[in-house]
Amino acid sequence: MEEFLEELLTEQESLLLQPFITNSDRAVFGLRNLPEVVKGALFSRYSRSDKSLRRILLDEFIKAPEASFARIVGGGSENNADQLVAIQQAEAFYDRVLIGYGDDSVAELGGAHLACEGISNIAAKALEDSRLGISPLEKSTRYVPFNRKVNGRYRYYREPSIMASNHAERYEATLDHLFDTYTELIEPLLIWVQARTPRDTTTSERAYNSATRAKTFDLLRGLLPMATLTNVGLFGNGRAFEYLLVKLAASPHQELRNLGVSMQQELDQIIPSFVKRAKTERGAQFARYLSRNWECTELLAQKHLGQIEPVSSSTVQLVEYDPDAEVKVIAAILYPHTDLTFEQITEYVTTLSTQERVEIINTYVGDRSSRFHRPGRAFEETYYTFDVLADLGAYRDLHRHRVLTQERQHYSVRHGYVVPPELEEANLAQTYCKALEYAAETTELISSYLPDAAQYVVPFAYRVRWRIKLNLREVYHLVELRSSRQGHPSYRTVAQEIYRYINAVHPTLMANMHFVDLNDYALERLAAEQRIDTKLQQLNQN
Ligand SMILES: Cc1cc2nc3c(=O)[nH]c(=O)nc-3n(C[C@H](O)[C@H](O)[C@H](O)COP(=O)(O)OP(=O)(O)OC[C@H]3O[C@@H](n4cnc5c(N)ncnc54)[C@H](O)[C@@H]3O)c2cc1C
Repeated sequence: MEEFLEELLTEQESLLLQPFITNSDRAVFGLRNLPEVVKGALFSRYSRSDKSLRRILLDEFIKAPEASFARIVGGGSENNADQLVAIQQAEAFYDRVLIGYGDDSVAELGGAHLACEGISNIAAKALEDSRLGISPLEKSTRYVPFNRKVNGRYRYYREPSIMASNHAERYEATLDHLFDTYTELIEPLLIWVQARTPRDTTTSERAYNSATRAKTFDLLRGLLPMATLTNVGLFGNGRAFEYLLVKLAASPHQELRNLGVSMQQELDQIIPSFVKRAKTERGAQFARYLSRNWECTELLAQKHLGQIEPVSSSTVQLVEYDPDAEVKVIAAILYPHTDLTFEQITEYVTTLSTQERVEIINTYVGDRSSRFHRPGRAFEETYYTFDVLADLGAYRDLHRHRVLTQERQHYSVRHGYVVPPELEEANLAQTYCKALEYAAETTELISSYLPDAAQYVVPFAYRVRWRIKLNLREVYHLVELRSSRQGHPSYRTVAQEIYRYINAVHPTLMANMHFVDLNDYALERLAAEQRIDTKLQQLNQN
């Protein structure tokens, strides 16, 4: 940092810049109080200029009349409408900077927080399917009961094509029945959960109530249909949003296409220059490309596979793994520490004894004192493919992982549903199953006319098949996180199975997975709630 010999700013320049930068005299500084488009354009100039960022901001934005800088930032938060008009008026300037100096990745330099409320779970999953550049968060079925009514109606998506058909009444009756059953079972199940796991003297009432309520909602979430309305918050960069908007436009679901239009409207007010291509002919063409290919492939898949009956399968199947994984991973471990070729190192590694291999792996992974101490990139050298058949609840949770490939089949009732054993023990399974079976009949009924729309009826208890392809590094992350005690039992099972399969074929590579939890628990959230209590006590003491 001592080599920082940047020109000094005059006092007046420092004053001008001061609201927008975190310091005016050090080599490392942050930007603040600037609209996304200005930050993006500013950064895009950075790569084609010899000037410092402060100097570019001063000369090319603050002092440039066509940048409308004073009007854009001058209004501050009280005057958002003025700011928007100013940004729109200066659009030609920003477009010139962004197009002239940037490439596609420039749209990653500005971001937006977007709230999407009252959307179905079909829509929520579509949004969360984004991996790069978008960070989603969704209302939890574990902490929030989903039976609130608005104007006397449960909160689920009334799918327009079904509502316009002669199945409308049946659709509402089925979904109302699912929500009624959910509501009806909360109280008796909570009483059963509390009777089975009574509070001990070391557990506070707060922690106990939270843990038992979470357990109850976890056990009942299987009744919620995909039409259930939820809220999703997204933080993402412009490029990721643009691609998401195109994908939404290509969707067979009207809800998703409408959602895309609403999202565009809002993003146009925050990062207009970064998402504008989604609504041009270029964007429409891209969407047509995606939907046409999808539809044509679907027809071909039907032609080839339509007559084959699916066989039953276990929850998790290991479809593919690399028999040379160990050699490849060890070669990748050694690679950055030598100037040999990868091929030379691989050849050498094949000559090593088991003991030598283990020593290299263990040294590389080191002493892991927490699950956050994850192995490095050498563990990305080998991949595993799994075929998973688990309830939609588990899919919804595991789907949120992004550093891997996941792709599912249709939401359907064809693979049957899962009943949590606790519901059987509590003698409440019959009511639960009745609602699910009624939903299955309705799904099949609607499915023959409106196959896409029928997916809204499918409750989370039904199973869906999806494939997961992931590298060993993500295996460590996913398995240790998703097998942890506080997790939902259905995804814990998937994580534990993934562990068992890989451990059976690659025990040496899995030997450092110290934080996988293979136990079963009666009250998953309790330990986490007790830890919250300890933290609350510490806060109170301070
Ligand atoms: C017990 C439990 C309860 C949960 N409850 C909820 C809930 O109520 N609502 C909800 O929405 N989600 C919930 N989640 C999901 C959770 O928030 C994550 O979305 C999910 O676990 C994916 O985790 P990840 O980002 O660590 O994993 P991955 O996406 O697999 O990523 C692996 C790692 O890569 C890095 N990474 C990936 N993407 C980014 C990025 N964009 N920016 C920075 N780093 C990145 C991070 O280090 C990350 O840990 C819950 C998870 C658990 C285990």
